[in-house]
Amino acid sequence: MSRFLDPRFAGFEAYTPGEQPRDRRYIKLNTNESPYPPGPAVLAAVDASALADLRLYSDPTQTALREALAGFLNGEFAGLALEKENIFVSNGSDDILNFAFLAFSGEGTTVLFPDISYGFYEVFAEFHGCSYRRIPLREDYTIDLADYRAVPGKKLIVFANPNAPTGIALSAGEIEALLQAEPDSLVLVDEAYVDFGAESAMGLLAKYDNLLVARTYSKSASLAGARLGYAAGSLAVIEDLEKIKYSTNPYNVNRMTQAAGLAVLREWGYYRENCVKIAETREKTAEALREMGCEVLPSKSNFLFVSCLPALGGEEAYLGLREKGILVRWWSRPEIRDRFRVTIGTPEEMESFLAALKALMGGKSDE
Ligand code: PMP
Repeated sequence: MSRFLDPRFAGFEAYTPGEQPRDRRYIKLNTNESPYPPGPAVLAAVDASALADLRLYSDPTQTALREALAGFLNGEFAGLALEKENIFVSNGSDDILNFAFLAFSGEGTTVLFPDISYGFYEVFAEFHGCSYRRIPLREDYTIDLADYRAVPGKKLIVFANPNAPTGIALSAGEIEALLQAEPDSLVLVDEAYVDFGAESAMGLLAKYDNLLVARTYSKSASLAGARLGYAAGSLAVIEDLEKIKYSTNPYNVNRMTQAAGLAVLREWGYYRENCVKIAETREKTAEALREMGCEVLPSKSNFLFVSCLPALGGEEAYLGLREKGILVRWWSRPEIRDRFRVTIGTPEEMESFLAALKALMGGKSDE
């Protein structure tokens, strides 16, 4: 810490992303990326002429991409009639979360999010000095939205659906009941992992102006490195986010990423197939883990949250797998330290993961 740092940030605990080590080649199952590459339209869109155009700023209105996203969503969800003005695009969905915590958590608003969820929610809540509460999950790791309704006053309610790192999803019906009961609170549904099998809340935008849905190209669209996220919401809510964007970084999505994001929508069938493949691999992996004696939460995402007790603790599994060249994610928080999260890779990668885990568990029971 330098002597110039604002004392407000002196004790601030920043988010720790999953490791991206360079020391050797790993089977990387720790940050929920897609194991499949971007499709041909993306590779063609980011060509030499796109690179030559980098001398020019990107379109700050992001018109082509926002129009295409509105059209895409209208095609996916019956009853939606979104315009480009209902869409906000950003440099990864972390940016959307950041802006939403900043914009919608003013005096008199309590921010609520699940106690066990994406770690960045608390970081943003602290960073922006929000008044916030972490709402415990049920014993079975599910979210009970009645707990959020029970907190009085005006709220910004944020949750991931499916939740991370549990992978467990809420139904659109449960989310609709919350939207109906809380017309004066904004509900931000983080759908980073929705394409792997959960029900989307997107269709509810036709009826509710207190809903903001955030999505990312990082997982299902194989573009984690491009940094592209988007949100859909009412005209007024999106206008608020635009105001923040224009007050911080109007060119927040670079030219190549805008082009890549457009190209993905043109070949969405390819990504949808990848999601189906990943969901199939997930189910097979979960079954194999259960056969090995591990406990696996029911996931609708591209990862599994696993406990191999009593054979193997969470940290032991994480370190043992790392030693064998396989990266998974582990958190030291007491409530979840017995578990680890494994991203679903290709079938071959999951075979290697299962073999390595089996060896670790076998090694333990022989001791
Ligand atoms: N929400 C959740 C629940 C996530 O797990 C992630 C990925 N770390 C994000 C949002 C952010 O994704 P990105 O910034 O890559 O769009």
